[in-house]
Amino acid sequence: MKNDHIIGVCTDLTSEGKGVIKLFNETIFVDALLLGEKAEVEIDYRSHGVAYAHIVNLIEKSPSRIEPLCPISTSCGGCSFQNTTYEYELAFKKKKVEDALHRIGHINHEVNDVIGMDNPYNYRNKIQVPFQRNGKDIIYGFYKAKTHKIIPIKECSIEDKRAASILSTIKDLMMSMHIEPYNEDNRSGVIRHVLIRTSYHYDEIMVVLVTNCDSFPSRNNFVKALSEKHSEITTVVQNINTRDTNVILGEKEKVLYGKGFIKDSILGINFNISSRSFFQVNPVQVERLYSKTFELAHLTKDDNLLDAYSGVGTIGMIASMWVKSVTCVELEKSAHRNAIRNAKENGITNISLINADCSEYLVNTDEKFDVVIMDAPRKGSTKEFLDALTTNSPSRIIYISCNPATLARDLTFLMDDYSIETIQPLDMFPRSFHVETIVSLARK
Ligand code: SAH
Repeated sequence: MKNDHIIGVCTDLTSEGKGVIKLFNETIFVDALLLGEKAEVEIDYRSHGVAYAHIVNLIEKSPSRIEPLCPISTSCGGCSFQNTTYEYELAFKKKKVEDALHRIGHINHEVNDVIGMDNPYNYRNKIQVPFQRNGKDIIYGFYKAKTHKIIPIKECSIEDKRAASILSTIKDLMMSMHIEPYNEDNRSGVIRHVLIRTSYHYDEIMVVLVTNCDSFPSRNNFVKALSEKHSEITTVVQNINTRDTNVILGEKEKVLYGKGFIKDSILGINFNISSRSFFQVNPVQVERLYSKTFELAHLTKDDNLLDAYSGVGTIGMIASMWVKSVTCVELEKSAHRNAIRNAKENGITNISLINADCSEYLVNTDEKFDVVIMDAPRKGSTKEFLDALTTNSPSRIIYISCNPATLARDLTFLMDDYSIETIQPLDMFPRSFHVETIVSLARK
């Protein structure tokens, strides 16, 4: 029954970090319950043989429990580990990788400790927040999980520290200049979202105003006041999204101030980032991710490298210095176009940038690759790609994955021809339940 109260001990965690209580006849997933903790919980609902519950009384508390830095951590849905020490979170992430590899791939190879951050806060270089009217006030913040109700917040503990005061100024200017936030119900108003991208290595910040209309009163004064108050803002872009959709960005854009993009770098290579560019959101960990990848790839000047699922070509471009040639394959047109511009701006000439589906490309190509770095999306790769990969027969494969379950499934296709050398998880998104894994494989 709903509203049942049960007392139990948390003996396991789900892949999303929820506590698991196992009773003789039922499994209960409990929000925010830590391993080893004993609690009285209340059942919220049951689905597919599992009960979902929340804590009503914490009877025995884990030493790993801490006070969340963020006041809305339980309702926003972005973070799962605000209430634990970072060590607890990293241990969970290692076990999550081990469990998926054992359970799905029957792989028992040793998994290294997760490469974490020194400070697991304030890392995100991209933040997007919706604005709404709330009576006399304008609010901005995050949507309550699975709703369109905004929970107002002044500061998010994982975002770059420079974003908070810019958002607060934007709200003040909207109030004083009578610029209305968007109203979803009658589709009136101007500002839907504000997106802020900060450069880690350069003093550059981009503000994107996502609006429900082409132009709006006081636009020039608004941008002037904003950029005068925050000299750290180097560009302001208006993105126009008039559609009735949850997709944040529209197609049309106007540069209102500055160049329309910011520059950042990864391991010494510069990249221009526009509002829509895909760019890794953790600038500290991306350098560690790539460094580890290159260390495990043992690249040499004789190598023909394939960078599959290449995004804006960051991996291929950095690796181009150490190899004979590199081919980047990416499906998204906009990321591919970005890659072309980035390669040109960095003067990289030993690179081929291909806009295609990776599986189709690898099945049909005549190129032979010595090393393949593949950074598959969450749903993983395909059987076609993995079969073509074994046929192509590179001496080394580095598989970077953000989803241990699809990683485990995909590795099983390679196990006849390749042996695993290293499994290295890395924490790209501290305080969330996500974990990145790098697996290096050598041809048998
Ligand atoms: N390696 C990049 C991007 C990784 S994200 C980086 O480190 O930044 C995964 C990328 O795979 C995305 O850019 C996505 O557009 C691309 N992608 C997804 N499915 C694909 C497919 N079937 N073929 C080629 N690229 C694909």
